[in-house]
Amino acid sequence: MTSLSPHKKAKALKPNSRRPAKELCSECGLCDTYYIHYVKEACAFINQQIGELEAQAHTRSRHLDNPDELYFGVHQDMMAARKQQPIEGAQWTGIVSSIAIEMLNRGIVEGVVCVQNTKEDRFQPMPIIARTPEEILAARVNKPTLSPNLSILEQVEQSGMKRLLVIGVGCQIQALRAVEKQLGLEKLYVLGTPCVDNVTRAGLQKFLETTSRSPDTVVHYEFMQDFRVHFKHEDGSTETVPFFGLKTNQLKDVFAPSCMSCFDYVNSLADLVVGYMGAPFGWQWIVVRNDTGNEMLDLVKDQLDIQPVMSQGNRKEAVQQSIPAYDKAVTLPMWAAKLMGVVIERIGPKGLEYARFSIDSHFTRNYLYVKRNHPEKLEAHVPEYAKRIVGQYKLPK
Ligand code: FAD
Ligand code: SF4
Repeated sequence: MTSLSPHKKAKALKPNSRRPAKELCSECGLCDTYYIHYVKEACAFINQQIGELEAQAHTRSRHLDNPDELYFGVHQDMMAARKQQPIEGAQWTGIVSSIAIEMLNRGIVEGVVCVQNTKEDRFQPMPIIARTPEEILAARVNKPTLSPNLSILEQVEQSGMKRLLVIGVGCQIQALRAVEKQLGLEKLYVLGTPCVDNVTRAGLQKFLETTSRSPDTVVHYEFMQDFRVHFKHEDGSTETVPFFGLKTNQLKDVFAPSCMSCFDYVNSLADLVVGYMGAPFGWQWIVVRNDTGNEMLDLVKDQLDIQPVMSQGNRKEAVQQSIPAYDKAVTLPMWAAKLMGVVIERIGPKGLEYARFSIDSHFTRNYLYVKRNHPEKLEAHVPEYAKRIVGQYKLPK
């Protein structure tokens, strides 16, 4: 008789009870399961261990002296891609959903952890283990809210599944990697997306109401490479708002404290990452981190247009200027914001340089946030690569 795994004796926390990471909790879902047993090692906000977990997942941690790895993490390959026939209603062209469907259809995995929405609310996340392509398709498009994806981990173990694909954002994947060996799987595949500036459901409402002309009809939005937020409405129309016109003074506390303290924008521990920010407008950005990621991408390559990544412009001055502007919550009048948007789109950073712009802006902001709100955590919580990135800029006190 095998002895009971130690975590099975632990008890999930009740919904709404205070989490071990306190206000920094990103509601990743781990503490909704008996894997809470491992929370002190596994939680991304209690025990930052990206370097060690990179070595576990990719056989080595990132080369800090390689400029691309410093920013984008361990990788074998990067490219820009888009589906020749986009999936209608996907966040971009649906590369993530397509890979998941292929893996299920070909029997490579028995289930896919992904996140649908509840019947009542298109933005309320509802994590599931999908066992059919229809269930994966129903999870397409971002739920731009903190999502407890790992809350289904007990179901994984109980189902007896041995081969699993998990789709998730950085904080979920950090905790997942930390408990991976306890899940009883033969093979775990991890398909990640970059993630930044996430919000609670209440925070999302405030963001929509402050920023969109019609908050109730928004079905989808993205901060895009043309320095505008693109909202898509129920009637198919698109609304754009320049970044520089956002009402920063009202939005400053809208982002979740976890996301203001996160330095894993690029999902360092996934096997394969699919985002958009290192690619030209309209294209998706793919980072292949290891052989498993390569195997996953190969399944859909014949459905994709692919081009090499490019990089253009210089972000440094724009980042440096944005640091005090954000700190003082400067909001430009809309005409000036639109003008600035047009100018920066023409001469501003593109491709990988746009991705670096976004990483630099968020890491400097988050570094200041942790320094001011959790100074005792600063040294251990900020990974070495992020310290080097932030160190390129002059920060206010
Ligand atoms: P689809 O085929 O539409 O599939 C989307 C998948 O995302 C689904 O399988 C679903 O399970 C999963 N998902 C949805 N919401 C969540 C959630 N809250 N948590 C975990 N998984 C979820 N990319 C960038 O390059 N830069 C960014 O700044 C950036 N910010 C993001 C912020 C958030 C909150 C999220 C969820 C994603 C972000 N991305 C970002 C990724 C990008 O928006 C797309 O998700 C990605 O390019 C995949 O597009 P797709 O059309 O292939 O996805
Ligand atoms: Fe638990 Fe996840 Fe919250 Fe950390 S972030 S306290 S692991 S639910």
